[in-house]
Amino acid sequence: MTLDLSEGLEGIRRNLGNPDYHGSRFLVTGGAGFLGTWLCSFLVKQGADVLCLDNLSSGLRENVSHLEENPRFSFILHDISEPIHFRQNIDYVFHLASRASPLEFDKFPLEIIRANTLGTMHALDIATEHGARLLFTSTSEVYGNAGIFPTPETYHGNVHTLGIRGCYDESKRLGEALCLAYLREKGTDVRIARIFNTYGPLMRADGVYGRVIPRFISQALNGEPMTIFGDGSQTRSFCYVTDQVEGLLRLLYSDSAKGEAVNIGNDKELAILSLAELIRSATGSSSGFNFEPLPEDDPVRRWPDISKATRLLQWRPKVNIETGIASMIQKG
Ligand code: UDP
Repeated sequence: MTLDLSEGLEGIRRNLGNPDYHGSRFLVTGGAGFLGTWLCSFLVKQGADVLCLDNLSSGLRENVSHLEENPRFSFILHDISEPIHFRQNIDYVFHLASRASPLEFDKFPLEIIRANTLGTMHALDIATEHGARLLFTSTSEVYGNAGIFPTPETYHGNVHTLGIRGCYDESKRLGEALCLAYLREKGTDVRIARIFNTYGPLMRADGVYGRVIPRFISQALNGEPMTIFGDGSQTRSFCYVTDQVEGLLRLLYSDSAKGEAVNIGNDKELAILSLAELIRSATGSSSGFNFEPLPEDDPVRRWPDISKATRLLQWRPKVNIETGIASMIQKG
């Protein structure tokens, strides 16, 4: 089984059934990033009107170039940390805008805090003004170095405020609190996705943007040593992008999810060293492993409890890691 972009979009549609997207207008902040591009592509394909807002800090204009001729799609170059108003009606807001790679946390902490706090307030203001439903993309990082596995939404977290990840973790936590404050004070219809590690085509492998899977694939394909941080015993649970996008759409459309935070991720836990071995064998590479120091506050384990998503959204991830990685290798 292999997957590509249009097949991936078609798979999401099949799994979701066919809600009517025609006549609905979506604002997607961070719409030219990895997940944003998948969402915008899906929504435009289903007949929705899409306002894709991005300041291109980590997103790429070329990601959405295939959509730009479509009259239902508009690209808006704007930083959501600054206020913005829309004359058109807006029905749904996906607030995704934020740098998300740990290698960026060191270089751009203020920008990250602004996007998730001021940016979230501005997105919430737009949703409130238009009577739109808003989905905030939060993160497994709100749990920090978690102490319960698999980690349920009821776990309140173990975050090192002063550490290198503090800018991301704490601003996402405040973003969540802001969503609930708007719901309580202004009645804004909000829901929160706690996204666990997600991967797939369109994810960047370069420089500070690179997350572990695209980095390992690029290193393996180029015959370079694969950089394993620590001894590789730390774990993550990797969700393929089509599963993630389907989960996000189900959460947005669920009438029972108002004010709820829901883990969206794959529930198969994998050690980073095993991931490296899997990618090396899938690429047929003879790359060696370079063990480098573990970055500060790198969580030891990350493994979501997804029973709430299963119960509330009738959602489960379907793509296993071997299939997902094969699809990324094919894309180069
Ligand atoms: N990692 C690694 N080598 C790399 C990049 C990342 O061993 O070149 C490890 C990293 O230390 C972490 C895991 O892979 O334990 C996932 O890293 P990623 O940057 O994808 O995101 P995180 O889950 O840490 O936010």
